[in-house]
Amino acid sequence: MKGERIREENGYTVVRTCGWSPPGCHPVGCGMRLYVKDGRLVKVEGDPDHPISQGRLCIRCLTPPEYVHHP
Ligand code: SF4
Repeated sequence: MKGERIREENGYTVVRTCGWSPPGCHPVGCGMRLYVKDGRLVKVEGDPDHPISQGRLCIRCLTPPEYVHHP
């Protein structure tokens, strides 16, 4: 996945991105892998290829599928 932005993997579209927001408690933009299936965000994992966060994410970046799809 290193160097790729998007790839197909086991039936998922996997998109690499970074979480970030001001005012500065997320300074490195932790690396995320977003797993999308049938147009739906299914899960998020930390990106082990991110040079700083190295696969680690806190709960705020692990839970987007729950709040994106909350009724
Ligand atoms: S994992 Fe946590 S610290 Fe890193 S960008 Fe996401 S919310 Fe911020």
